[in-house]
Amino acid sequence: MSQVQHLLETHPHWPAVNAIYHKLQAAGYKAFLAGGCVRDALLGITANDLDVATNATPDQIEALFEKTVNVGKVFGVMRVIIGDADIEVATFRTDGDYKDGRRPDHVEFSSPEEDAKRRDFTVNALFYDLVAKKVLDYVDGEKDLKIKLIRTVGDAERRFKEDHLRLLRAARFVAQLDFSLDSATQTAIGAMASLVNTVSGERLRDEMGKLLKAKAASKGLRVMQETGLLKELFAFRLSDNSWQPRGPTKETWHFLSLFMRKASREELEKAVALLRLSVKEQRAILKSWELWQNPSAFLQKRRGEQLQALTDPGVLFALQVLLSEGTQSASIQNILDDWESWGAELPKPYLNGEDLKGKLSGKSIGVCLAEAFNEQLERRLDSREKALAWLQGYLQKEQHG
Ligand code: ATP
Ligand code: MG
Repeated sequence: MSQVQHLLETHPHWPAVNAIYHKLQAAGYKAFLAGGCVRDALLGITANDLDVATNATPDQIEALFEKTVNVGKVFGVMRVIIGDADIEVATFRTDGDYKDGRRPDHVEFSSPEEDAKRRDFTVNALFYDLVAKKVLDYVDGEKDLKIKLIRTVGDAERRFKEDHLRLLRAARFVAQLDFSLDSATQTAIGAMASLVNTVSGERLRDEMGKLLKAKAASKGLRVMQETGLLKELFAFRLSDNSWQPRGPTKETWHFLSLFMRKASREELEKAVALLRLSVKEQRAILKSWELWQNPSAFLQKRRGEQLQALTDPGVLFALQVLLSEGTQSASIQNILDDWESWGAELPKPYLNGEDLKGKLSGKSIGVCLAEAFNEQLERRLDSREKALAWLQGYLQKEQHG
């Protein structure tokens, strides 16, 4: 068995794909795997998803399988659900004109060769015929895989003009695959970089997230710098585009916050708005940025306040990054250990507003409760009884002084 076939058959979605292709085959249709999964199998990597391409139309796919989801019938894209697996089954198609720089006005169902030609890069345009068990290559994609090259299918300028997202996808695939960029492709991106500004924030975020998480992220960022994409989107990185992610990076916002670490507040705010981040992500990124601006200000705070700040994932992340860099390690480790010893969450306060009824009013209620909570977090109060006794003393002091 070939390495490709072996990789495909050990993929978690293989049982579903196997069932799908047998059914397509029995009904007289073609059944290919297409795009990223063929590329990855040829590279010896397990793909994220296995995507099927066929000459059956969406209506025929719908009729053939028990459970389907119409994700874009007019564009020829269906999903077939088999057990836990949800497999994209798309009809070979040719894209019509692109008027909005995003997607075709209409598509026409067509042949595998035409379908390969509408795809973005040659290495993404390969098929694997599941019946004949062989790779189909209409665009010299296998050659480019061997020489590790990202190259557009067909004329680069035309392909980027059709869909502006492809400008950034080129840099993303350079980063993910650790490939180089074909020089004509690079020149075209350079000439058209400003069109990246029309791409939606969600798509920019997804592509940037994938790029920054990639093994050759620095290489992808260099492509962005050389082509002007960086200047268009994140000009604040032009002076220093070095990239060494640190700390417990996992989520996209972790990577983005490190990416924006050296931005000014204004640049940071502009970038998070551009990428359409959720309110939670925006807040976490801002919190980590603020802490990095002035770590000592945070380290000088009283422990109770530090622990309360740690409820924001951005503060926790910023401290973990500083720790991994060896900055103020002892103090930071101490704070993080303390936070862990609370079970990484704040305890319920011993005192509440009810306890102060008739005793304090207005602003002084909040001040008193905050003080009591800090005392609790700093472990000078370890029970409600002690907190109530502390309150007596506090109120006496308030009255007399
Ligand atoms: P990943 O591993 O990130 O999923 P992928 O190659 O599967 O990589 P997808 O974005 O999932 O990338 O797209 C699947 C396939 O669809 C691509 O391999 C490519 O052939 C085609 N494709 C996706 N986006 C575009 C686009 N904007 N223009 C042209 N073809 C595209
Ligand atoms: Mg994919």
